[in-house]
Amino acid sequence: MIKKEEGVSDFVLLNQITENAFIENLVKRHKSDSIYTYIGDVVISSNPFKKMNIYNESDIKSYNGRYKYEMPPHIYALANDAYRSMRQNQEKQCVIISGESGAGKTEASKKIMQFLTYVSSKANQDGEKISKMLLDSNPLLEAFGNAKTLRNDNSSRFGKYMEMQFNAVGVPIGGKITNYLLEKSRVVGRTVGERSFHIFYQLLKGLSQGKLNELGLNNTPQSYEYLKKSNAFDVSTIDDSGDFKAVLKAMETLGLNGDDQNAIWRVLAAILHLGNITFTETAQQQTGTTTVRVSDPKPLGAAASCLKCDINALGMALTYRSISTGVGKRCSVISVPLDVTQAIYSRDALAKALYERLFQWLVSKINTQINNPEKGPVIGILDIYGFEVFDSNSFEQLNINYCNEKLQQLFIELTLKSEQEEYVREGIEWKNIDYFNNKPICELIEKKPMGLISLLDESCLIAKSTDQSFLDGICKNFEKNAHFQSYASSKDRTIGDSCFRLKHYAGDVTYDVKGFLDKNKDTLFGDLINCMQASSDKLVQGLFPPTKPEDSKKRPETAGSQFRNAMNALINTLLACSPHYVRCIKSNDNKQAGVIDEDRVRHQVRYLGLLENVRVRRAGFANRQTYERFSTRYKMLAKKTWPSFNGSPKAAVEAILAEHNISKEEYRLGKTKIFIRNPTTLFYFEEKREQEI
Ligand code: ADP
Ligand code: MG
Repeated sequence: MIKKEEGVSDFVLLNQITENAFIENLVKRHKSDSIYTYIGDVVISSNPFKKMNIYNESDIKSYNGRYKYEMPPHIYALANDAYRSMRQNQEKQCVIISGESGAGKTEASKKIMQFLTYVSSKANQDGEKISKMLLDSNPLLEAFGNAKTLRNDNSSRFGKYMEMQFNAVGVPIGGKITNYLLEKSRVVGRTVGERSFHIFYQLLKGLSQGKLNELGLNNTPQSYEYLKKSNAFDVSTIDDSGDFKAVLKAMETLGLNGDDQNAIWRVLAAILHLGNITFTETAQQQTGTTTVRVSDPKPLGAAASCLKCDINALGMALTYRSISTGVGKRCSVISVPLDVTQAIYSRDALAKALYERLFQWLVSKINTQINNPEKGPVIGILDIYGFEVFDSNSFEQLNINYCNEKLQQLFIELTLKSEQEEYVREGIEWKNIDYFNNKPICELIEKKPMGLISLLDESCLIAKSTDQSFLDGICKNFEKNAHFQSYASSKDRTIGDSCFRLKHYAGDVTYDVKGFLDKNKDTLFGDLINCMQASSDKLVQGLFPPTKPEDSKKRPETAGSQFRNAMNALINTLLACSPHYVRCIKSNDNKQAGVIDEDRVRHQVRYLGLLENVRVRRAGFANRQTYERFSTRYKMLAKKTWPSFNGSPKAAVEAILAEHNISKEEYRLGKTKIFIRNPTTLFYFEEKREQEI
């Protein structure tokens, strides 16, 4: 149901390009339920925090195949554009969705998938089957990868790039999911008021009593330390048992049968049991040393039984560490007892590793189902964690915010910088527009060999390094960097002694280095790995594959480096596509319907660089294409160029423009391309062309 709109539907159409005018338009539109507005091709979406009556089948139909300007702004119009460009040009497309946590990225990505699967797979059975699998991957991955946080009841705790693959006539034939850094620390602990991953609560609520008994579980999350400690269980906006049913259905669609399901539940149950294991220190009177033992054999036994491994072996692996001494024939292995802190560390490391590997296994399972080796154009949708600032920020936030810096950098490159550079390159008259470039902060974090991640890796190699010595090192190294502030230099003492502050494009964030080295090294003691490899459970065994001989000497890649490499690979993938942008704005911090907090919105408009985006867009040209492409596509529209033409493609373009009396103001002729100011001019040619063919 589409109603009359308030304000202007494209910020480019504002009378004055000022921040106030921008915000006024956004507020006006939000209050009248027009949550989408354009800046040219970019969709700005403000989170309504209420169910909108604009995503029905009839809405999909009314956007399908239409030109953008014919209809009010909508995320469907963007999806339609991506689909049409893919088919018309047989080119890869990507949709990049950005915005802070709770701004509406995941919802937007689902709406786009909903549109694409609907318009592409109707009346094609194979297409429908693959569409169903692609759609069903959402509830499944959300159950395992999303959690209630203080900012969002359904916050994605992993990044996702989902590619939908089509055949030459636009029917879906497959897909691929690439996932990025799951926030696995959430499994063992989190801020009070937040929850662990949805699946744990769903399992306890949704599984039958009989099955719970088999796993040694009861249905109260309060019985499990890993869930109990953040004191959040039921959430008013979440229906855990209903969602569990959806997960089961999705598992069926994606070929995860009963055996797979039971194996998954066993791993989840084992994690909950592991969390209930506590340790006691006992003094050894003869030697004067202390050893650690598992206090209560019950949770240990339950965990071992779910993991199908030997209870004594698991107990030993949690409390001792094998160290080899000597070389060659004299080499022997001795068992060194851990202290309580180390034992807790190894228990938590095992729980996190199990969960992370299970998640990865799920993604691979889905991929084997949806993968299609045939080559065909794709539309990729990127839904990745938004910028995060908490009272206390750790390694996870550093990675998440670094990722957002990279995406902002890409946005700048693609929409501001490259656009302006192209005008200069093509010899088009152009007055440069200033924008804030966040490249320096990206470099501060990722540069080799002296960026933050590299310095952290270096600290991880030195045995006597500590979190604090790492901090002191970076404080010295970045002393003069305008984006970095050390605890020592903060006159107001607002930066704690174990912290540093980064000036991100979206705001200042203070990071606490406690745990940085451990999180980056991400070690799981060999004894635990051996213990898991000896499990008689196929799934558990598979989660801990034997190290390949050629890798055994290699230093494992740190979590930070892995993430940096994954981000750079992602950026390269995106650069190979025609991009479509959705910029999500969080209307208020209380998840309230009908409320738009002007200050919060102003802040986001500033750091997202939206005003600069409007300025570049307004001064610039909506469309550009090579003379070859334009003349080939529209040659039938001019007597001079149809049926044949002898001159250059540029001359052909000029002839077409002249015959249609296109005003000189509407276009510029560059060295290799024609630049068209308004999309309506292009629509005009498209319509004419359709009439001809
Ligand atoms: P993000 O992925 O950016 O962290 P989500 O997409 O999970 O944020 O959105 C957070 C919440 O906001 C959703 O759970 C939903 O309640 C609400 N929301 C977001 N987008 C919409 C929308 N288009 N219509 C209605 N509610 C929305
Ligand atoms: Mg999300």
